[in-house]
Amino acid sequence: MRAFKDISIKRKLKLLIILTSGVGLLMASAVLVVYDRISYQRELIEYVSTGAEIVGLNCTAALTFEDEDSAREILSALSAQPHVTRACVYSKDDKPFATYLRGSPHAKFTPPDPAPSEIRFTEESFMVFKPIMFDGEAIGTVYLEYDLVEMDERLNRYVGAVALVLLAALMVTFLLSSRLQRIISDPIMHLAEAAKRISTEKNYSIRASGNGRDELGQLIKGFNDMLAQIEERDEQLQRHRDRLEEEVAERTAALRILNAQLIAAKDHAEEANRAKSEFLANMSHEIRTPMNGIIGMTELALDTPLTEEQREYLSLVKISADSMLQVINDILDFSKIEAGKLDLDPIDFRLREACGDTIKTLSIRAAEKGLELFCHARPDIPDTLTGDPNRLRQVIVNLVGNAIKFTDSGRIDVEVWPERFSAGSVCLHFTVTDTGIGIPLEKQQIIFDAFAQADGSTTRKYGGTGLGLAISSRLVEMMGGRIWVESSEGAGSSFHFTASFGLQKTERLTSEKNGQKNREQIAEPLQKDTLRLRVLLAEDNAVNQRLAVRLLEKRGHFVQVVADGREALEAFEREPFDAILMDVQMPEINGLEATALIRKKELETGRHTPIIAMTAYAMKGDRERCLEVGMDSYIAKPVRPDEMFRVLEGFAGESVRVAGMDKESLDRAAILEQTGGDANLLREAVDPFLNKQEKQMM
Ligand code: ADP
Repeated sequence: MRAFKDISIKRKLKLLIILTSGVGLLMASAVLVVYDRISYQRELIEYVSTGAEIVGLNCTAALTFEDEDSAREILSALSAQPHVTRACVYSKDDKPFATYLRGSPHAKFTPPDPAPSEIRFTEESFMVFKPIMFDGEAIGTVYLEYDLVEMDERLNRYVGAVALVLLAALMVTFLLSSRLQRIISDPIMHLAEAAKRISTEKNYSIRASGNGRDELGQLIKGFNDMLAQIEERDEQLQRHRDRLEEEVAERTAALRILNAQLIAAKDHAEEANRAKSEFLANMSHEIRTPMNGIIGMTELALDTPLTEEQREYLSLVKISADSMLQVINDILDFSKIEAGKLDLDPIDFRLREACGDTIKTLSIRAAEKGLELFCHARPDIPDTLTGDPNRLRQVIVNLVGNAIKFTDSGRIDVEVWPERFSAGSVCLHFTVTDTGIGIPLEKQQIIFDAFAQADGSTTRKYGGTGLGLAISSRLVEMMGGRIWVESSEGAGSSFHFTASFGLQKTERLTSEKNGQKNREQIAEPLQKDTLRLRVLLAEDNAVNQRLAVRLLEKRGHFVQVVADGREALEAFEREPFDAILMDVQMPEINGLEATALIRKKELETGRHTPIIAMTAYAMKGDRERCLEVGMDSYIAKPVRPDEMFRVLEGFAGESVRVAGMDKESLDRAAILEQTGGDANLLREAVDPFLNKQEKQMM
């Protein structure tokens, strides 16, 4: 069957035609043969029966007269019919009367028992029994046996002829089928050929030939229609592709232009951003420099004998200046956050110490308003953590500052507890709860947006920029936490925030502790009573010059002032200093350049003079730039006196102590020269020292 499936359609068709016509012919022939045999057999029986009747008739007289010889005579006439093998005439009492055997007419044989009018068949012959009638009465029976040789011969002849006809018919069928099958197979073959070519050449313009109206014709037409549709779609697709390619090319060109424009715009924006940062830094410098003077000088003035009224005015100046500085710091911080330029500066720190210090400074403000301020850190919080304590302080100051600001009576509670510990870090949960004015529900979300305040009248009534919470929220995010508020109007507020800090391993802790101790030791100011430093102050702003000089001198140090980097360099070359306080922005040579030059000079002498930068520049990278050129430390303006002393005295180290000072350093002329020849300044500087010496000596 599989072999049949694999052969070509031509052969299949041929085979089918031959097979069907062969089977048809065979069946027809078989029917013919069977029909012929039956009808011939019938004819033969008729014939033999008639013969038997004639023999019976002829024998009537012989039977009547019991004349056996004439009966035998009559039977012997049967020899004319060669297929009659045996014959017998029976008397009325069924006894054989006369017999006949083909080939030996007189031989006797035992005939079968007679039967009334019957035909019997054996393998090789058939027998006919017929009664012999006379006057309507049976007077005996005649029996004839006829062989089938004739019938078989006829059958053989017939079968032979039929076989010949069949053969001839099959041959004709074969010849015809070769031609006829083409009517069906040729179009199919063409169709198959066309399909094959299309699939190999991918050429959909090829068409199958054939245009009959039959199913095959329809198939070919359908096939061709399908091809036409595919071709049409192909063309459409090609056209579309061409158009797409054109569009892509156009768009790519447009994108290229846009890209170039974008790059230009980006460069422009970056340039603008740089300019903005520069502007911000400059503005911050420009504003902080006079603020430095205002705050410092006010503080100094407040330290002098004043009338009550003057003290009140100056205190107000100080408060206003402080809050203005706060506003400036907020705006600057916010700009830095917006510009993505605010980074955390993680160090190891003591949480309780950091919180405690912060709360201590705030408690003064709380006490002024008659508020109680409590701080509680749960004991299971590890004390030494890694994080940015300054930014944490900023958030706490903001929240507690707000709590103080918006609470008229009652108390403020600050609580800290560990929310969860994970590998190497702890997430702390802080809450600042007050008994103040509270925040309406609908405002609770917007207060974390920049410049948003719960009430339009807040600024007028309480002051503030609306930036504190926005900054706190970003700082907390940077510390891996979040901030939220629970409050209802008139019933106080509870600000929550979380922040993650690094945990220290015990061994790391020990070494860190030592390291910190060392650092603390370095930065620890030496006993003020025992240290007198020769300080070179490079500062171009006259007010700040005076402020710094006053502060340093009040502390007991000797100060020489120069107004720019070049003068600083000259002074450095002229004489040795224990430390240099260097403003960064100065005319001629700026602080950074001057430091680099000084460090170069020091390569020859092998000395190292501590140089501390003082800058109102507050942008990211300033500190790094200062340290890069060889400065030892960095203090931001407005200068906080205690910070200035801590850094200055820490770095100047133990290089100079009063006890160790030789006569030369107390030489009046030399000191006078150091003070730029200002005898008053010299007095101002030396007096406290002398007083203390006296006191110490007493
Ligand atoms: P500022 O305090 O400078 O206005 P903040 O961002 O710190 O800015 O606060 C935004 C606003 O949120 C405040 O103006 C105030 O309306 C509200 N707010 C903040 N803290 C409290 C508080 N503890 N109680 C009541 N209102 C508060």
